[in-house]
Amino acid sequence: ALAFTLAACGGEGAGGGAGAGGGAEDDAEGGLVGVAMPTETSERWIADGDAVQSGLEEAGYEVDLQFAGDDIPTQQQQIDAMINAGAEALVIAAIDGTALAPQLEAAAAAEIPVISYDRLIRDSENVDFYVSFDNFQVGVAQANALLVGLGLVDEEGEPVEDAPKGPFNVELFAGSLDDNNAHFFWDGAMSILEPYIEDGTLVVPSEQTDIEQTATQRWLQEKAQSRMEDLLTANYGGGEKVDGVLAPYDGLSRGIIEALRSAGYKDDEMPVITGQDAEIASVKLIADGVQHSTIFKDTRLLAEQAVVAAEALLAGEEPEANNTEDYDNGVKVVPAYLLPVVTIYEDNIESELVETEYWTAEEVESGV
Ligand code: BGC
Repeated sequence: ALAFTLAACGGEGAGGGAGAGGGAEDDAEGGLVGVAMPTETSERWIADGDAVQSGLEEAGYEVDLQFAGDDIPTQQQQIDAMINAGAEALVIAAIDGTALAPQLEAAAAAEIPVISYDRLIRDSENVDFYVSFDNFQVGVAQANALLVGLGLVDEEGEPVEDAPKGPFNVELFAGSLDDNNAHFFWDGAMSILEPYIEDGTLVVPSEQTDIEQTATQRWLQEKAQSRMEDLLTANYGGGEKVDGVLAPYDGLSRGIIEALRSAGYKDDEMPVITGQDAEIASVKLIADGVQHSTIFKDTRLLAEQAVVAAEALLAGEEPEANNTEDYDNGVKVVPAYLLPVVTIYEDNIESELVETEYWTAEEVESGV
């Protein structure tokens, strides 16, 4: 029915020339939806893109799915091309959340609804809806996992009785500053860690404790690796050990692990290292006891929400939001649908990732 409504809408549009050959038989066909994803270097975005595409296709739409290789001009051109091709809605996971102003203006002028996918698009009026996970909670979960690994709290975040006093040496990593999420992850994590840093249970030998100092431009693994190498050289030269590392994304976690390996840490004496995305290489490292934990965000569910929101917007309706407070993009509060996240440790890989068919047992075994 929604696809039918859409076809009807398309018919009313001024010169909406995308759908050539609009015979009566084509009535059930939806229009074109542009899906712009940031990069293929991280498997989550490939999974996101595929899931959004197949969900939209099943709902009767045609899909133009593009990945931008983490290059901002490429993403801008891709979105321009989608608009020129007559896209009737856009689903965008931005590389830089502030760099799409001309594209969003063009979309608004053509009355094309825009869904901000996972990462909030900032500084623009022309964002209709946001689908994501509870990003503050991701940071909280990462910090809790770090404390769990150090024996300070249980998996519910409750302090452990007779917990070790520490002090523990930890180092902190943040994501890319142009990604709105990086700030939410950081704020969530620091809301948990700050009291432990203040009372001396956690010590940050590098003294790098703000987001500018700890950020990782474009979320690049090699940047995290080289920063970790530098931290080790500058602060751990006298035999001090790193006990924990807050890492907000599995790619960074693996760069950090590489730096620690080069500095002589054996796989069975790694610090507690957190992560995000349940990437298969990291899930294997968790199964092998090298990486401590990750945060699982089921991209299948996110893709489903994007499809639901696109269908609503295309039918001229407001998508259902479950958060209308937290995501102020600098110009307006964008109504959002946020999904919950799950912390993965070695002992729930099977129940959370294998039984739910996110990864097969063979993939976990091989790491690919
Ligand atoms: C996403 C994370 C991802 C990171 C790096 C963030 O915007 O929310 O899931 O780890 O980007 O790709």
